[in-house]
Amino acid sequence: MQIKGKDLELLISESEIQRKVKELAEKISKDFQNEELYVVGILKGSFMFFADLVRNINLKLKIDFMQVASYHTSMESSGEVIFVKDLSVDIKDKNVLIIDDIIDTGRTLKALVEALQKRNPKNLKTCVLLDKKERREVDFDADYSGFIIPDKFVVGYGLDWAEEGRNLKEIYCIKD
Ligand code: 5GP
Ligand code: MG
Ligand code: MG
Repeated sequence: MQIKGKDLELLISESEIQRKVKELAEKISKDFQNEELYVVGILKGSFMFFADLVRNINLKLKIDFMQVASYHTSMESSGEVIFVKDLSVDIKDKNVLIIDDIIDTGRTLKALVEALQKRNPKNLKTCVLLDKKERREVDFDADYSGFIIPDKFVVGYGLDWAEEGRNLKEIYCIKD
C-alpha cells in the first residue's frame, strides 16, 4: 500500500488493535465502576479508536469532542495548542476521560489537561492508543495507553498523513 508515493509498512494489525481496545475498555469500565463517565474524543485522529473504545466500555457514559490545533508541519507538532472546538457542556464535578490517538512530545495532552483542570472536573484522565515514549519533551504520560511504538511516523486507524490514510483498519509506518 502507498500514500503520496511512499510505501507503508504494517506496524499493528486490525486484530491486535481490537484486542488492545477491549483490554483498555475493560480496565476503564472497572476503574469507573458505578460512576458516570464523560468521554471526550480529540478530533480528528481519535475518531476510530474512540468509536471502538466506547462500544466496549460497560458504563453509563456521555460523549463529546474537542478539536485542538497546533502549528505544525505535516509530521511534527510545535507545542503551541489552540482550541478550535471546545466542549459543549460544563465538566465541573464530572468524571472526564480524554481520548486521543497518540502521545508524542506530550505537549498537546499536557496543555489540554492543564486547561481542563481549571474547570474543576471530579476526575480527569487521559487515554491514548499509541505512545511514542522516547519522543517525550514534557513530563506527561497518559493514564491509559495501548501500544508503545518506536519513533516513526504512523498512519491509519484514524491517524493521517496530510489528511490521507485515516480510513485504514490497521496502523502503518511510512517507509523511507
Ligand atoms: P504531541 O503534542 O504529543 O507531540 O503531539 C500529538 C499529536 O501529534 C497527535 O495527536 C497527532 O495529531 C500528531 N502526531 C504525533 N505523532 C504522529 C504520527 O506518528 N502520526 C500522525 N498521523 N500524527 C502524529
Ligand atoms: Mg491528534
Ligand atoms: Mg494530523
